[in-house]
Amino acid sequence: MSNEATDELMAISNEIRDQLQFYREMGFEDVGGSGGAAELAPAAASRQPQPQSPTEEVLSRTALSTEADRVEQVDLFGESVAGPRKDPAPKSHSMPVVECSDESLDAIRDEMGDCTRCKLHEHRRTIVFGEGNPQASLMFVGEGPGAEEDATGRPFVGRAGQLLDKIIAAIGLRREDVYIANIVKCRPPLNRTPERDEVETCEPFLFRQIKFIRPRVIVALGSPAFQTLLRTRESITRARGEWRELDGIRVMPTFHPAFLLRSPDKKREVWEDMKKVRDFLNAN
Ligand code: URA
Repeated sequence: MSNEATDELMAISNEIRDQLQFYREMGFEDVGGSGGAAELAPAAASRQPQPQSPTEEVLSRTALSTEADRVEQVDLFGESVAGPRKDPAPKSHSMPVVECSDESLDAIRDEMGDCTRCKLHEHRRTIVFGEGNPQASLMFVGEGPGAEEDATGRPFVGRAGQLLDKIIAAIGLRREDVYIANIVKCRPPLNRTPERDEVETCEPFLFRQIKFIRPRVIVALGSPAFQTLLRTRESITRARGEWRELDGIRVMPTFHPAFLLRSPDKKREVWEDMKKVRDFLNAN
């Protein structure tokens, strides 16, 4: 077997291993075992026909995506060779101008103080500023704290947060390697979507966090994060999985983990998006 063929087989086998690992991490416990396809993903199981075992399905999906990722290229001698698909240049967006003389995240937090700038302060218990590695290459941005975050002062510690931890682990990182923040720092009553005035009041703090950390990649979790970060009204369903750029920082829009808890069949798309993030971070 040629070296290229061996490399390709290795790449495919690594991909299968990672994909199986992701599904296990995300709670599809029977993946790769001897059980039925129904365990792989609820929606996949309800699709007809279902002739394959979980492992077979992952294998064939991997083979398909590997195929789709390759395009015809021509080598120096005019011979046609398969090469990796070139991503189109990401659509670029700009951050609003925010004051940025920040020496530390603590300085930004201090300036926020016991914030009463918007009406969200009326019901909150704790400001959830954000946490993680201040030099992170990867940052996650969610919508706003929920009940557990409000009680603890830490982002993404409830059920959605536990799923986020698994997503982070599935790309080979630990929670403490990344930075996690939200577009608003106080819990909206009944976990409603933050309103425009609340977002506008709070977002300068997020943009200052981003400017200070300067991650290589931001994963925008869900529609409010995506639309706020990129100043767009596009739908997350259409935009997910498509690289964007925010003042030179790559942004990957994907579904929010809370949405995945309600629609577990969408985990597959999130895995596709997270593989792009992992591969970009590994290659750059
Ligand atoms: N959902 C979010 O968007 N952020 C959190 O911190 C928790 C849940």
